[in-house]
Amino acid sequence: MSQFSLLGLPEALCRAVQERGYDTPTPIQAQAIPAVLTGGDLLGAAQTGTGKTAAFMLPILARLASVPRPAGNPIRALILTPTRELAAQIEESVRHYGRYTKLTSLVIFGGVGQNPQIEKLRRGVDILIATPGRLLDLAGQRALALDKIETFVLDEADRMLDMGFIRDLRRVISLLPKQRQNLLFSATFPPEITDLANGLLNRPTRIEVARNGASPTLIKQHVCLVDKGLKRDLLVHLIKEGNWFQVLVFTRTKHGANRLAEQLEKSAIPALAIHGNKSQNARTRALAAFKAGELQVLVATDIAARGIDINELPHVINYELPQIPEDYVHRIGRTGRAGVEGTAHALVGADELGQLAAIERLLGSKIPRITVPGFDLSERAIAAANAAPAHERRQPTARPASHHQRPGGQPAHNRGNGNTRQANSGNRRPGGGRGPRPSGPR
Ligand code: AMP
Repeated sequence: MSQFSLLGLPEALCRAVQERGYDTPTPIQAQAIPAVLTGGDLLGAAQTGTGKTAAFMLPILARLASVPRPAGNPIRALILTPTRELAAQIEESVRHYGRYTKLTSLVIFGGVGQNPQIEKLRRGVDILIATPGRLLDLAGQRALALDKIETFVLDEADRMLDMGFIRDLRRVISLLPKQRQNLLFSATFPPEITDLANGLLNRPTRIEVARNGASPTLIKQHVCLVDKGLKRDLLVHLIKEGNWFQVLVFTRTKHGANRLAEQLEKSAIPALAIHGNKSQNARTRALAAFKAGELQVLVATDIAARGIDINELPHVINYELPQIPEDYVHRIGRTGRAGVEGTAHALVGADELGQLAAIERLLGSKIPRITVPGFDLSERAIAAANAAPAHERRQPTARPASHHQRPGGQPAHNRGNGNTRQANSGNRRPGGGRGPRPSGPR
């Protein structure tokens, strides 16, 4: 008997998860599956990377498959996500997990033609995964009805609010039947999420898990202090020296992502950028090539990368630190998943030391510094940055302190294990001068 069947899942689903290579339920799965199977509401404090998709999808599939499809073939489960990538990924999982059931699923989001989506909706789907905009659009056109939804999942609720979807969200909720099961997942719990959860959920089971279950230390974090003008060369150096493949690089701006991808290409490193200005098809193609290991580097902005789930993604690089400290945790969470080790390097210039300090406050620990000969940020630059008037330093965007709180009151963080090649920045180059414009770093 598999460990999943002990949680109450039917054989058809246990077989599918076994084929996916899951032997043991993750902590969130062990807690959520029995709770969702009872039909009650659930409040989950968890991020992607914990196995949360299967935690809610498996019991939903089990419940839907246990009774005959109602007359009229209505949509019976709705999963609402903030981004297209996350929606597409969840639907892919649903198809895998549900392969030995007769249940059907569909993902809908904007940025692509609506007619194929309308055509599929007409044929009937049991499970709909959607982003709010296109969902409301199609509901407005009467291409879909949500009045027979049995289970409603709100995934990444905090990100949904950050992206300004609160009004859309309330409109979606108003289209649902009163009697239904609600599942809400969020990584952080600012007051707006608590209010939303209080209004939406009826005596929910509360579940809280750390990222990656028991293995947050699988991500080895490093900070490389570097002169801003040398960042690109350092990136090329790290990728080439380390012989890194499947490297996800984060930039702050769409323009920066484009430029960096072009520059990497010029250095003979195959790279593509994904961000909100790219067509959905271009984003999907780039992501597929990256997942398949055909593309060495994917350069992304935060929104585009949200929810990207690549098995065994080995390397994440913060080319620029995010303005919002929590985004650092989301970014590095793309690696070190499902038991596989990953590295996360942050290339930090003198003007980003304030952001770095804010991130380290959130993590509750200092990220180990490493020095790469020829690229180290000079003592002078650090001293100058520290001496600069506050208004000249780049300040991180603060969120209300409560944003960091999980329901249990602990900070939603994740700690690196401090395992580095060269711990600390003690061994700076003598003289502390700027690194050379390296045509070839030493
Ligand atoms: P999620 O948090 O749903 O994005 O899942 C993170 C990753 O963990 C995905 O690649 C899943 O395929 C994988 N995963 C989910 N559940 C398990 C499990 N029980 N055992 C091993 N891997 C899993």
